[in-house]
Amino acid sequence: MRTVLSSLASACAVIALAASYPALAATTPAPSPSPAAKAADAAPLPETIPSDLPRNARPTHYSIEVTPDAQALTFTGKVAIDLTVFTAAQGLTLHGSGLTVSSAKLVPQAGGAPVTLQVTPDADAQLLRFAAPATIAPGRYRLDIAYTGVIGTQPSGLFALDYPDKRTGKTVRGLFTQFEAPDARRFVPSFDEPSYKATFDLSAVVPASQMALSNMPIATTQPLGKDRKRVTFATTPRMSSYLLFFGLGDFERTAKKAADGVEVGIVAPTGSGNQAVFARDGLAEILPWFDDYFGVKFPLPKLDNIAAPGSSQFFGAMENWGAIMTFERILLLDPATTSPAGLQDIYSTQAHETAHQWFGDLVTMAWWDDIWLNEGFASWAADKITDHFHPEWNWKLGGVDGREAAMNLDALPTTHPVVQHIRTAAEMEQAFDSITYQKGQATIAMLEDYVGEDTWRSGIRRYMAAHPYANTQSKDLWSAIEGAGGKDVDLIAEAFTRTPGVPLLRVTAATCKSGQTRLLLAQDAFSLDPESRKGAKPTWPMPLLVRVGDQAPARHLMSGKTDTVTLPGCGPVLVNSGQLGYYRTLYDAASLNKLTTGFAALAPIDQYGLLRDNLSLSMSGYQDMAGGLNLLAAVPASADATLSGRVAAQWQGVYDLLDKGAAKDAFAARVSRTWAPRLQTLGFDPVKGEPLTDTKLRAQLVDTLGAVRDPQVGAEARRRLQGLATNPAALDGPLKRVWLEAAARQASRSDWDLIRTQAGKVTSIVERQLYYSALGLASDPALANETLALAISSTPDATSASQMITSVGRVHPELAFDFVRTHQDAVNKLVEHAGRPRFIARIVAASTDPAMVGKLQAYAATLPADEAKPVLQALTSLKQRLATRPAQRAQTAAWLARQPAR
Ligand SMILES: [Zn+2]
Repeated sequence: MRTVLSSLASACAVIALAASYPALAATTPAPSPSPAAKAADAAPLPETIPSDLPRNARPTHYSIEVTPDAQALTFTGKVAIDLTVFTAAQGLTLHGSGLTVSSAKLVPQAGGAPVTLQVTPDADAQLLRFAAPATIAPGRYRLDIAYTGVIGTQPSGLFALDYPDKRTGKTVRGLFTQFEAPDARRFVPSFDEPSYKATFDLSAVVPASQMALSNMPIATTQPLGKDRKRVTFATTPRMSSYLLFFGLGDFERTAKKAADGVEVGIVAPTGSGNQAVFARDGLAEILPWFDDYFGVKFPLPKLDNIAAPGSSQFFGAMENWGAIMTFERILLLDPATTSPAGLQDIYSTQAHETAHQWFGDLVTMAWWDDIWLNEGFASWAADKITDHFHPEWNWKLGGVDGREAAMNLDALPTTHPVVQHIRTAAEMEQAFDSITYQKGQATIAMLEDYVGEDTWRSGIRRYMAAHPYANTQSKDLWSAIEGAGGKDVDLIAEAFTRTPGVPLLRVTAATCKSGQTRLLLAQDAFSLDPESRKGAKPTWPMPLLVRVGDQAPARHLMSGKTDTVTLPGCGPVLVNSGQLGYYRTLYDAASLNKLTTGFAALAPIDQYGLLRDNLSLSMSGYQDMAGGLNLLAAVPASADATLSGRVAAQWQGVYDLLDKGAAKDAFAARVSRTWAPRLQTLGFDPVKGEPLTDTKLRAQLVDTLGAVRDPQVGAEARRRLQGLATNPAALDGPLKRVWLEAAARQASRSDWDLIRTQAGKVTSIVERQLYYSALGLASDPALANETLALAISSTPDATSASQMITSVGRVHPELAFDFVRTHQDAVNKLVEHAGRPRFIARIVAASTDPAMVGKLQAYAATLPADEAKPVLQALTSLKQRLATRPAQRAQTAAWLARQPAR
């Protein structure tokens, strides 16, 4: 799954669209289970793997038939589950949630009379308990269940998305599924845990005119009267239930054969035309690269990526095997709305989901405790392949942002280890956080760098070869990498995945003598909470890559609390060269001064890494703000485009820290003086043929200068917005979002009305969400209140509404929080069932109101312990902001006053 994190288009030639979905080619080989998988089927689930279910039975195959009633938002289902009962039992227990069972029958495979089972649902535990009239003897059975279920309007289970048809503007409805984690049980009674792998046959009775989609190609289509058909998909390989997919709607598909012979397709709402071409060609490029990297060819006959028109508050895409689902805004390239960052997201999100086709789908974690391995690995692999095919994007700099996002969570007392113990559904949902994704990714990147790229890849190939169609734990990967020759992998990996927190390395460099520099290193733990800085700290084995002056970097594994290292060379000392180490580095003042003075000579990745690290150390009180701000000021406005964009965003971040007043105004003026000339050089509009990175920098500068209220950018934004009154396409292009947001921040009543009217008119769901979200950015509290009221009215579509509230939270967190608490029932309908505490935590992320402490405490007290965690994290983070803001503000003002007048 790709979490929600944060566009350039040229006219493409019109392409031929296949209106239909692929039928199974006669030559498709049947996938065969590995010996490990066969062995798993023959025995009960081991006690070492957690489970909600009694271990007396195990499924091997599901035959499912569903008949959705899209208008009524219900469906009927029938399932026949082939299973083995291992020990005599009074009944069977399966997962099921929101399902009503009408009949259940157990059919012995060896012959004999079927037995009718009585079902008792346990809604809280999401279980269906089936009781038999007499003891069930061990053996092979088929469990036949008839049931009905509901179709939701938020992305979990089987759900509907309503959206305007691209040709007619008429509202139409598409159906999709989202089963991670754990919601297959809302679709079919099942053993809905990752270790219960089985094969799946899916068939669906659907309107004849619509396209039905699943993991596999269609095996047969049977007409049922004039208007309906039964579509049966080919049998899937052995896989986990959370990877099953079903989709239905008015879709079109564009496909091509990748170099490995696998058909890759992009499925999009009808009328999307060549918006799917960029993604299709990207997928055809990415898939064979992974065949080679993993050393196992993609085992399914086709790989689709399906564009879902809408959004989730919590995820962008899902790696269903052979049928990835991605929300449209990060899959289709629309010249009217896709930003340059959006275009890059399309590429990297596909790379992430494609990596999962092996890492997660072919080889799956045994239990959710190891979800980090799925997500950390897919995130790492996506960055690797994106950097490989697009070196001009300077993609590695994003790794620094990922590290910072992880550390912001990992340095709070509420942190958790990467490998964490997960039991409940709420804990599963919450596991998809920056520690799982970005710390996981950072740990993998650090390990690959430590053992070397070739050894790492050999280890991954051994791992894939050993466990296809089976389940693993983290240790299986470490032993495969060590088997390939990697040293200390288990030692480093265990420390970084089992011990929570962020290592802090204190570095003192002695004066250079006889051409050698001596470093004194001391380990500590970095914490955002001053109270937690006291007391004993863990020790991590830390792989360091140290560069002294212009010498080649030297590798060193620091294993104790303190260490002394002597290295050849004189000059600035950079301890985390390449920025792949997951730790903070606090230099002594003289060493930091040397690095600041010699900043221009560092590689962009080190410039950016050093800057972010020092800004964080400054903001958390480990050093004066000047430490970070001096580095910020050391990046010239003429720096590499990717670096410049990211640095401009950091200026904006510091601006956001400051209270209204003279220092904030002076800081804004400083940002304008630094960055407005670069924007002037680039021009306000994209230049034909310019590099994507220039278009992206322009967008970032409009955003930053708009945020700091640069008068020129503000006036231009308003001028462009007003163009909408006469020309609905006035804002179209790769900078649409940033111009709209710059205008929305300073919106007058009539500007706000104009945006609102436009939202009601457009026929693209992506564009409509852009307008609705922008409404929430108005700084006028009266307009913010109106946005909130509009969000819970019936006007916006179901998935835009929550984004409007989140937008208001960016500017008026207290207003948004109070509104949500007052209208909790109405808001609950707009947010995915398990994500409500996370949604609230996100809304208050920018709050610096002391009164919010009590409000969050009161809210947390209303939640069960396993759901309260995101709120408690938000609370700790708020307290930390309240404690550090006064010093940050005073030190920033003092730094500004010391700057030479220009
Ligand atoms: Zn993922």
